[in-house]
Amino acid sequence: MSYRTHHCGELRLSDVGKEVKLSGWVQTGRDFGGLTFIDLRDRYGITQLVFDMDDNAALSEQARKLGREFVVSVEGLVRERTNKNPNRPTGDIEIEVRNLNVLNPAKTPPFTIEDNSDGGEDLRMKYRYLDLRRTPVQRNIIFRSLLGLETRKFLSGQNFLEIETPFLIKSTPEGARDFVVPSRMNPGQFYALPQSPQTFKQILMVAGFDRYFQIVKCFRDEDLRADRQPEFTQIDCEMAFVTREDILNTFEALTKYLFESMIGVTLTDFPRMSYDDALRRFGSDKPDLRFGMEFTEINSLAQGKGFPVFDDAELVVGICAKGIADQYSNKDLNELTEWVKRPQIGAKGLVYVKFNGDGSIKSTVGKFFSDDELRAWGQAMGAETGDILFALSGETEKTRKQLSELRLELGRRLGLMQPGDFKPLWVLDFPLLEWDEDSNRFFAMHHPFTSPKSDDIPRMMTDDFETLKSLRADAYDLVINGTEIGGGSIRIHDRELQSKNFKLLGFTPEQAEAQFGFLLGAFEFGAPPHGGIAFGFDRLCSVMNGQSSIRDFIAFPKNNMGRDMMIDAPSPVEEGQLQELHLRVELD
Ligand code: ASP
Repeated sequence: MSYRTHHCGELRLSDVGKEVKLSGWVQTGRDFGGLTFIDLRDRYGITQLVFDMDDNAALSEQARKLGREFVVSVEGLVRERTNKNPNRPTGDIEIEVRNLNVLNPAKTPPFTIEDNSDGGEDLRMKYRYLDLRRTPVQRNIIFRSLLGLETRKFLSGQNFLEIETPFLIKSTPEGARDFVVPSRMNPGQFYALPQSPQTFKQILMVAGFDRYFQIVKCFRDEDLRADRQPEFTQIDCEMAFVTREDILNTFEALTKYLFESMIGVTLTDFPRMSYDDALRRFGSDKPDLRFGMEFTEINSLAQGKGFPVFDDAELVVGICAKGIADQYSNKDLNELTEWVKRPQIGAKGLVYVKFNGDGSIKSTVGKFFSDDELRAWGQAMGAETGDILFALSGETEKTRKQLSELRLELGRRLGLMQPGDFKPLWVLDFPLLEWDEDSNRFFAMHHPFTSPKSDDIPRMMTDDFETLKSLRADAYDLVINGTEIGGGSIRIHDRELQSKNFKLLGFTPEQAEAQFGFLLGAFEFGAPPHGGIAFGFDRLCSVMNGQSSIRDFIAFPKNNMGRDMMIDAPSPVEEGQLQELHLRVELD
């Protein structure tokens, strides 16, 4: 222990009188002529150092010259502070420094190393090592480490084995583009980085490992958003000899354990909702249940009254915002109308009905509907005096999406999405197949290894489009506060059924064999029934902390263009390297 006997968050009144050694970074310095105070920081906290001109002038001079972020080591005596700082765990004491050793000076950092830094995103990412010194970021990284530890603790306790799967694999089609890696030893051939360990974990079940998990990097070459990164981490799990019920129970228990142990939140039982109901009631397959504002379909009340916009619509649907009639002026309502008309939302307009406190009704469609008719809408939606109804209309899928956005926006504006409030939900029974207009073919909504619900298996062998669209998968998502935290399914474990599914997805038998022959082959050697789930680890961190960006929980994240600003990647490679890989790059 030549650098330190204690860390900077450790010393208390009970340590007064001790000779100690501390090392860390200079946070700030304050010079009061005779007395110089330095705040010394490390990962654990901040301790005040004091230098007295009267005691040791040379040492005080040295202290005065220390700049921000200098790395220093000090020896001294712990003494009680006269001017205590109750906001700091070490605030009762200070160190009367006898010896100061500058281990490394530092240039002035390009932004302040404080909770609210003055550095913009790009600058902070370029100097990520400085950004990572800031307490909130450090707290997030520590949270992530502990969350991983608790996950391992819980799953190991349930007989799960952590087994690594390879990163250099063959493409696994899960809806995203692969990152590919050229093989030097196999000219013209490429590995793909895994979008997930899906096929490997299924093979592990065939191999008899029974319960697998891995906290693992996955790679998807997708367009990026605040909650997406090209490489991200999953808690990836698979179990053999299980039904959907076993999986939901196991991972509900994991989620409860993590919330309890990490943030002291007790989650009660998780409600369940079918995919169809989620869309009908909230317009989304990941509804935020922290507030109500459920959808009410009012086609029967609103159509046939001469309002052409509604009459031509497939769906007329509304929500009721409670008690806002008084606080929402015409100006607010116009602004909200403009909000839904923005291209990101894409509604043509917004119909509202305001049930004023004095019993009068004001509506954008007052010309077409009598007060009694509007009251009937209100009744259908559970509206009372003081409430405002909002309605949208059009093609079903689009309209639901738009109203779902409006519902969330109102939730935000009305403060209904409280950060400390956690509302989990299992969404069940997703469609098996999803039609893609562009390529004119079906894709698996989850992935091609997901089992149809057993009742739907006999209905799989048909060419009838509507029947195929109506097939349900034994797939489930865990949603918390409107964010998809995890998703999984019961898998197909029968070769015949898997081949059938590939056929529905447009694979010829030869293509299926070439891509997934290993899995189909494995299914012929005693594959047990199995299923699993994967949790988005980065997202889980951010949701548990009530934050929307996953970047703050990743030590070295990439920006919106998929760039690492610190190491400046991606970057060109040497011509020789390309030759070795048998590649020639021609940019268009
Ligand atoms: N591999 C799936 C995914 O990454 C999860 C699963 O089905 O277990 O979404």
